[in-house]
Parts: sequence; C-alpha cells; structure tokens
Amino acid sequence: MTLDAVVIGSGPNGLAAAITLARAGRSVRVFEAEPTIGGATRSLELTQPGFTHDVCATVHALVVLSPFLKTLPLAAHGVEFVHPAAPFAHPLDDGTAIVVERSIDVTAASLGGEDARAYRRLIAPFAERAGDLMEALLGPPGPRHPLLMARFGLTAIRSARALAYGRFRDERTRALLAGAAAHGMVPLDYASTAGVGLGLIVAAHAAGWPVARGGSQQVANALSSYLRSLGGEIVTGTRVESLAQLPPSRVVLCDVTPRQFLRIAGNKAPAAYRRRLERYRYGPGVFKMDWALHAPVPWRARDCARAGTIHLGGSFAEIAAGERAAWEGRVHDTPYVLLVQPTVCDPSRAPAGKHVLWAYCHVPNGSAADMTERMEDQIERFAPGFRDCIAARHAMGPAEMERRNANLVGGDIGGGASDLAQLFARPVFSLQPYATAVENVYLCSSSTPPGIGVHGMCGHWAARAALKKLGVTALRNE
Ligand SMILES: Cc1cc2nc3c(=O)[nH]c(=O)nc-3n(C[C@H](O)[C@H](O)[C@H](O)COP(=O)(O)OP(=O)(O)OC[C@H]3O[C@@H](n4cnc5c(N)ncnc54)[C@H](O)[C@@H]3O)c2cc1C
Repeated sequence: MTLDAVVIGSGPNGLAAAITLARAGRSVRVFEAEPTIGGATRSLELTQPGFTHDVCATVHALVVLSPFLKTLPLAAHGVEFVHPAAPFAHPLDDGTAIVVERSIDVTAASLGGEDARAYRRLIAPFAERAGDLMEALLGPPGPRHPLLMARFGLTAIRSARALAYGRFRDERTRALLAGAAAHGMVPLDYASTAGVGLGLIVAAHAAGWPVARGGSQQVANALSSYLRSLGGEIVTGTRVESLAQLPPSRVVLCDVTPRQFLRIAGNKAPAAYRRRLERYRYGPGVFKMDWALHAPVPWRARDCARAGTIHLGGSFAEIAAGERAAWEGRVHDTPYVLLVQPTVCDPSRAPAGKHVLWAYCHVPNGSAADMTERMEDQIERFAPGFRDCIAARHAMGPAEMERRNANLVGGDIGGGASDLAQLFARPVFSLQPYATAVENVYLCSSSTPPGIGVHGMCGHWAARAALKKLGVTALRNE
C-alpha cells in the first residue's frame, strides 16, 4: 500500500509534521534512527538512577507560545508545564542578581533609574501582544500584523550591543540583555542579535519559561501519543540512509539538516541544488553538562534560587567575548554558561531533597575541548561551594551530542547558524523553503524557518506545503 507520507526523524518538527498530515486524514509513518523518539526533547537518567535529566531542550516557552502546538491536546496526552517563581536571573560579581519576574513592572522597578522606564518601554508593547508577535515570528514568511512587526523589526534587526548601549545606562541591564541574546549563538555585535534577546525576554513575561513536569520527554511522548491516536505510525531504531530504503509514499518529509539530507537524497538531488545546500553553514557547538546534586546550588545572590534559568558570564563585555570566541573557533576560558535548575519547580525529577542541574556553554563547532572545569568554575564564581553539592556529573561534547542525534552537526543545536543571512535563507533563499529540488521531498527540521526551538512550526509549515501537493488546501482544525 502506498502511504500518503513518510517522515524521517521524530524530533518535535518531525512529529509536528506527522500530526499536521494525520489531522488532515493522511496516512503517515515516521522513521526514527534512535531507539527512542523525541530528538532533542529526550530525557534520560544520565547520572544516577532516580535522576531524570533533559539531554537537550529543557525550557518550553516556545511550546506554550507556538501557534501550532498550543492547538494540540498535549495536556490530555500527559504534559504539564510547571513554572519556576521567576523565569530567569543574571547574577553579577558583586553578589547581587537581576531577576526577570513574570511582571514587567516588578522587573523594571528592580532595575531602577532610567533603565526602569527604558525596559518597560522596550518590552511592554510586545509582551501585551505576544500572541500576535509569535504568530508573525513563527509563521511562514509573509505579512502578518504588519505594524507590530515593523515596530519589532526595527529594534530586532539591531545588534544586541547597539540595543544594550543605546537603550540602557546601567551595565547590569546591559548584561541582562547579553545573557538573553547569547542564546542565539551569534556574536552580540551582529545584526539581529537584539531580536533574540528581545524575543526571549518578551516570552518570559508573556508566557514564562516553564519546564515539563517529569522532563522534556513528556512533550515528545505526548506528541507521539496524539499522533498515534490520529492513526499515525512511528518506527524507531531505523536510520534512513537513502530515499530508496523508504516504503512507497506520495511525499517524504525530512526532519534532518542539509548535510544529512544530501547523503539521504544521493544522486536524486540535482547538482545545482546540491551546491546551494553545501554552502549552508553550521554554527558553534555546545558542551553540555548535567549534575545530580545532594543540595540546591548555593547561589551567593539568594534570588537565583527562585529562577528556573540562570545566565552565567558576568558583564556584557565578558559574555560578548565568549560568544565571539566560539563563533571564531576559539575555546574561551570563561564561557557564558546557560544553566537551568528544573527541580526548583519540578521535584519529581530527583529523589526527595535532591536536585538535577542542566547547563551548556558554546564551543567551536566540533570542538573536542573538555569544558567541565571551566563550566564548574563559572558556577563556583556565582555560587561558592557548588562543587561540594555534586553527587554525580555527566558531560557531553559536540561529538557525543552528534552521536546521540545526527541533527546536532558538530554540536550545533540550532540546525545551522542563525545569523541574519541564514534566518532568511534557511536552508536556501527561496519562497518555498520547505520544498527541496527532489520532487515530493520536503525538509521540515530547524534548518528551515522559523529555525531553532521546540515549537514544531518548521514541521507544521513543511507539512502544510506537502499537503498542498496532496491536494489539501484547507485544514479542519483551524
Ligand atoms: C543541548 C540543547 C539544548 C536545547 N535547549 C532548548 C530549550 O531549552 N528550549 C528550546 O525551545 N529549544 C532548545 N533546544 C533546541 C531544540 O531542541 C531544537 O531546536 C529542536 O529539537 C529541533 O527539532 P527538530 O525536530 O528539528 O530536530 P531534532 O529535535 O534534533 O530531531 C531530529 C530527529 O531526527 C532523527 N534523525 C536524524 N537523522 C535521521 C535519519 N537519517 N533517519 C532517521 N532519523 C533521523 C534524530 O535521531 C532525531 O530524533 C536545545 C537543543 C539542544 C541540542
């Protein structure tokens, strides 16, 4: 029997694609290389029995805000999002921390002086319309909410440095913006890095930065459970090496990055398209660490204990230097460390009274450097005595990350660099970014718009493009 669709890869985008197809009444089968589903939303007992660690993604603001995922019955399929008291904090060397609370006013007031007003003026107009903003940012290219987007775009297109030094007077506020913008893994004086910081801060106020109770695997499990309830199938432990290996289907959607796609497509990919995809650039890698702790992190700034995410790196200048180093292929001694303490709001991940801790830093793509000491030094800098709390640790460099998930090429967690050029040419410059030059074969991973994050929108929009090919133009659930 010919299937309507085959999906290669069961990351959030592969599963979102499959769900979109199955919801439209199409038959769909997902092939996943690894023994378990979920791609970068897997959870495992990486350190000790009883400690559940998110191997990759852990904070799910984008699931909550995703125009597609929020239409799915994820709660009915077992996902519960839990919020820390504050979305994130940024400790400084003087022993204080700036805390981004859910309330814009409370956050702004804590900044004091002119920056309080500047922060409110910058963030509030977008946070008030976060739903519209996300619809436009995570939608396919095209005019949606044009006035809002024009206003957002004028600020977002700037570099984080220009925004920080143009709008804020205090080094503390500038550091706060650097910590948020550095999620983008692009040097902070590059165009559009302001947009990363701004978008994430707006998300923190509008939707919080929650985690999934029990671990991110719950998100993947809910997506697969819903997919199966719609009649979709998932086959794990099957790496697709070639399109020829797939059962007959009318369309194929690939939740893989361009490099893997070229291998899978082989000589079916025309030479000109192959050359364009070969020019696709991957960004820095990450060095990921997880710890089992027998006590909470002893933050010098007590407020950090209330926050889910902590940005470690000190001043704007220090964070910018670390990000530039990773981008330029240099290992940095005091890296920016993005840390999450899920057990502040989800104690189910560890035995009673114990904790899990999650963190990564950016390193050059494919770097073999062991960042364990340097990352723990950065944590000690803001939480003296941290090492005494460690019961066990697990570390993964880029090679190990890629071994566990082939999409993490050289440890790049974004499916390709996300600088301004590749935000628009993702994976190539095209009005139909999901269609490939191989007939009826689509790309649906984070290497397509809107890029990195657990939002499922790449998969959803790719499936919409494929559905058009299958003759479906309107969807019942919209
Ligand atoms: C360390 C880390 C931390 C992150 N933190 C966050 C976070 O906190 N919040 C957030 O929103 N995002 C985060 N992200 C980003 C987010 O996880 C990704 O953007 C998202 O998972 C991309 O989804 P995807 O479906 O495109 O790819 P993936 O999730 O990478 O899934 C791809 C799947 O395809 C499978 N596959 C690959 N090749 C083949 C093949 N040949 N045959 C069959 N199967 C194949 C892989 O095994 C994998 O299961 C993080 C990512 C990483 C790595």
